[in-house]
Amino acid sequence: MDKLLIRDCIIIFAVLLTSFTDIFRDTKIKPESTPSVHAKQNNGSIHVDTNPESISVLVNNLHKLPENYSPSELIYADIPFVFQEKTEKQKMRKEAAEAINQLFTEARTQGIYLLGVSGYRSHSTQTVLFNNYVSKDGYDKARTYSALPGTSEHETGLAIDVTGGDGRCPAEDCFGETKEAIWLEEHAAEYGFIIRYPKGKEAITGYKYEPWHLRFVGKSIALKIMKKRITLEEYFHAEPVNK
Ligand SMILES: [Zn+2]
Repeated sequence: MDKLLIRDCIIIFAVLLTSFTDIFRDTKIKPESTPSVHAKQNNGSIHVDTNPESISVLVNNLHKLPENYSPSELIYADIPFVFQEKTEKQKMRKEAAEAINQLFTEARTQGIYLLGVSGYRSHSTQTVLFNNYVSKDGYDKARTYSALPGTSEHETGLAIDVTGGDGRCPAEDCFGETKEAIWLEEHAAEYGFIIRYPKGKEAITGYKYEPWHLRFVGKSIALKIMKKRITLEEYFHAEPVNK
C-alpha cells in the first residue's frame, strides 16, 4: 500500500513537472513572437529595420518615416559643396557627416575631387520640393524622380547627393560615367556608404539609377551590400517597391 502511494506521488510529481516546464517554455516564447515596433517579420532571415533613428533604417515608398520626423544630432558636413551658403542641405546625422568627411579626404588623397550637392532635407522642405515638381511635371512624372514627403532618404540625414569636383553632372545620369562615380562604386562602402539606387534595380528600389546618391548604413552592412551588388531592400529581404 505504501509502495503504491509512493509510486502515485512520483507520477503526480512528474505530471506536475511536465506541465510546469510547458508553462515556463510558453512564457519564454511569447515575448520573441510578439512583433516589435522597429522590426517587421518577413520571409527572409533579417528583419526590415524601420526604426527612424537606426543607421540602417529602410525608407522607401513602402516604408515611410513617422509624420514630421526630424533626426537627432544633425551637424554640418565638413566638405566642399557646390554652393557656399550654410543651409540644412549641408547637414547630416553626426555619424554620417563624420564618415563623409573621411570619404572626401581619402578620395582627395587619391586624386578624386568630389563636391556635396544635397544632404539633409527636412520634411517641410521635401513637401515644398515635391509640390513644385508636381506643378511643373504633374504628379505621375514627379513620382518617378522625387520622393513623396516622408519617403525620402534625405529626410533621415543619412543620405547625400554628390558630384565631381568640376560640378559638371550634379544629380544627372552623366555622373555615372565619371572617374569620381567609378571610385565611389569601388570605395564608398569602406566608409559605410552604399550607392543606394543602382542600375538595373529600379523595380526593387522604385528609383532610376542614381550614381550620385550615397546612403550611410555603416561599414559592415555597406560592405555586404556593395560586395553582393544588391540593394538595401534585398539585404532586408523586403518586398520590392514596384511589385
Ligand atoms: Zn539623393
